[in-house]
Amino acid sequence: MASAGSTEAPPWRARARRCAAEELRPLSAEIDRSDRFPSAVAEALARERFFGLGIPPAWGGSGGDTAAVVGVLEELAWANAAVAVELAVHLSVCAQPILTDGTDEQRRAYLPRLARGELLGAFALSEPGAGSDAAALRTRYERRAGGYRLSGAKMFISNAASAGLTLVFATRDPALGHAGITGFLVPKETPGLRVAQRLEKLGLHGSETTELVLEEVRVGPEARLGAEGAGLAIALRALAGGRVGIASCALGVARAAYEEMERNVRAADAEWKRHALAQAYAELAAARATVAEAARRKDAGEPFVLAASVAKLLASRAAVAIAARGIDVAGPAGARAGAEAERLLRDARVFPIVEGTSEIQELVIARSLLEATEERTVL
Ligand SMILES: Cc1cc2nc3c(=O)[nH]c(=O)nc-3n(C[C@H](O)[C@H](O)[C@H](O)COP(=O)(O)OP(=O)(O)OC[C@H]3O[C@@H](n4cnc5c(N)ncnc54)[C@H](O)[C@@H]3O)c2cc1C
Repeated sequence: MASAGSTEAPPWRARARRCAAEELRPLSAEIDRSDRFPSAVAEALARERFFGLGIPPAWGGSGGDTAAVVGVLEELAWANAAVAVELAVHLSVCAQPILTDGTDEQRRAYLPRLARGELLGAFALSEPGAGSDAAALRTRYERRAGGYRLSGAKMFISNAASAGLTLVFATRDPALGHAGITGFLVPKETPGLRVAQRLEKLGLHGSETTELVLEEVRVGPEARLGAEGAGLAIALRALAGGRVGIASCALGVARAAYEEMERNVRAADAEWKRHALAQAYAELAAARATVAEAARRKDAGEPFVLAASVAKLLASRAAVAIAARGIDVAGPAGARAGAEAERLLRDARVFPIVEGTSEIQELVIARSLLEATEERTVL
């Protein structure tokens, strides 16, 4: 109970649970079939003020700490993983870097509109030849009178077709490696910024994944986020926070798959299914503990890079394992196109890839263990 006179924090998770169950879950099969979000999705997220989560009220946001954000993302992903991933990208790797690395002018220009959902945020780091090794990116920027000129191509960019604002990373010279990379805030209407194609995917239908082309895109000096050469550090910091969010999305899918499995075991019990159910429950519990620990660390201002990668690795692994075993438990009906168990498996399989593959999480974990000892409190 809040003490008299205190302002009780909005019960974010409870609000998300209601929104997910009553508004999103009924739309989920149609979103999967059509690969589109109906307008009711953005309306619901805006009405619940989820687009402003983690953005302080002083900048027009809804407030809320990482624990609130992960609670909301898990609940939304339980209903529809694509909706949760859209929101996770908008919040973690577009709005947060503006908050942490932007100037007051950039915060004033973008955060209130991102928070209201007037602008959807995107993050464009990956390229056809630069995914896991982001420092190998080839999109170029040149200093020009009055600002910068950007040219290149980005691949697998979530939200980009609808995004009002995209954080684009480019290099002054690929030979400079990470030291050459700078981030730019590029509004949708900027001439030369073009969505070349919308990519069809195995899962996460509804979430836009696009190829983005930059043809001599001119931006002013006010578009630069942080210092020249600081772009990769900004991107990696944003991704560390983003992984806590993506882990909670995977957790929501894992929970939905677990619940579907439990329903199926109750409907037709067998000893082998009980083993599957018990394993799924244990994997879900372990993943949940790591997500909570990563969020707690981030909120406490403690190092959380290791914890975020552990959470992302285990939650995405749990989602895939539980959803895959769920197909066995559901029997042949579970593998039919359009079945709940089938959709959950397709959605789950994307989580070990986005915001750093599982192999990259393992490298981050190993590097943290071998080099940065202060974070080693897990064991
Ligand atoms: C649905 C979806 C949405 C996405 N959204 C965005 C977005 O909004 N913005 C954005 O910038 N990017 C986005 N991405 C891109 C994503 O971040 C990359 O796909 C990911 O980083 C992997 O890069 P890659 O696809 O180029 O694979 P590669 O880097 O070519 O990797 C291929 C395989 O090799 C493995 N591998 C690579 N290097 C190593 C190594 N050193 N050691 C061991 N194994 C290794 C990888 O784990 C992977 O299994 C998205 C991707 C997907 C699928």
